[in-house]
Amino acid sequence: MGLFDRYEGLLEAYRDVRTTGYDPFQIRMERVLSPTEAIINGRKTLLVGTNNYFGLTFDPSCMEAAIEAIRAEGTGTTGSRIANGSYTEHVALEQEIAEFYGKKHCMVFTTGYQANLGLISTLAGEGDQLLIDADSHASIYDACKMTQAEVVRFKHNDPSSLEARLRRLGDRPGNRVVVLEGIYSMLGDSAPLREFIDVCKKYGAYVIVDEAHSLGALGDNGRGLCESAGVLDDCHFIVGTFSKTLGAIGGYCVSNDPDFDILRVTVRSYMFTASLPPSIVASVRQALKVVKAKPELRTQLWSNVATLYEGLAAKGFKLGPEHGPVVGVHLPDRMIAIGFWRAMLDAGIYVNVAVPPATPNGVSLLRCSVCAVHTKEQLEHMVEVMTGIARQFGVLEDRTLRVVG
Ligand code: PMP
Repeated sequence: MGLFDRYEGLLEAYRDVRTTGYDPFQIRMERVLSPTEAIINGRKTLLVGTNNYFGLTFDPSCMEAAIEAIRAEGTGTTGSRIANGSYTEHVALEQEIAEFYGKKHCMVFTTGYQANLGLISTLAGEGDQLLIDADSHASIYDACKMTQAEVVRFKHNDPSSLEARLRRLGDRPGNRVVVLEGIYSMLGDSAPLREFIDVCKKYGAYVIVDEAHSLGALGDNGRGLCESAGVLDDCHFIVGTFSKTLGAIGGYCVSNDPDFDILRVTVRSYMFTASLPPSIVASVRQALKVVKAKPELRTQLWSNVATLYEGLAAKGFKLGPEHGPVVGVHLPDRMIAIGFWRAMLDAGIYVNVAVPPATPNGVSLLRCSVCAVHTKEQLEHMVEVMTGIARQFGVLEDRTLRVVG
């Protein structure tokens, strides 16, 4: 048997994808010019698929902080914090994130993926029940493969489905640990968090919320859905990433649990991998300052969300259910999605294409992510380009004709 025989279905799908002439999963950014533009295939391209929600990758103060840190402390830590020790700045970053959330403790990880993987599989152990939303991110699903806990899935964004699962568990021994996301990464919808928290309280379940896509975007201070839903004190753990709004790489979790520090010697994805390099720690610390000092970035982001979401909705595109920085555009099938994606790239616009098995319910999507520093003109142009392509592909009703007819 060949090593990849078990992936036959996937190989076939991947071959289909490549028939378009480009491989959407191996795109090369020949040069990144700014948070919103890069050279791809020799052409200046508008970036609307990079999760760079505040555009901080090119923020001069974050860049300077990173450069200074390299000069002062070198390029890398060359080991994990339990082996090589923590730098003063790792500890400072943790204190600043904890303060940002008004929580007592914070632990930073080398990626958000590792934060979810390690934290979730450690908090829910043998004899416990881990309850996850069906549309959870891959890092949460992968944590389920690592945990010794029983894994139970509930319907996406459906508190009554979670309640039914918790009720069925009855008075079985073990902790119940529920994992939710602030904004879901494919369709951009957010959890009805208040309702979920009520259910969790009723059944004594612990709650972890992943704010990867909502940090900066939601809440009066940008603390995410937990803040905007008014449940910061009810979430036992909040997880997030530095790779989106904060424009760098890394992950974190915060909590008020008095025994929090035991995580530093139990979470394997923290213990057995190299810690964040000084440059990243410095740029993230600065990015957090920018998030606090410039609420206008959030206002600008939401104004851009309105331009893109409402612009596409007005043209008749089928979109994810909510306004938000992630805008998922539904297309009828995988091949149309790939062809559409390629036509957009040829027209100088980069978005993500998301197709089964990576999507919820087998949907095929173009996944757009809006940036605070996109201009209105850039997004209006994108709506026009997408509308033209959609007509070519026959996936959009002609609203003008419909009105006339
Ligand atoms: N959680 C969610 C919901 C995500 O979408 C992602 C990244 N796409 C992650 C966690 C992982 O983040 P990172 O890039 O820091 O590994």
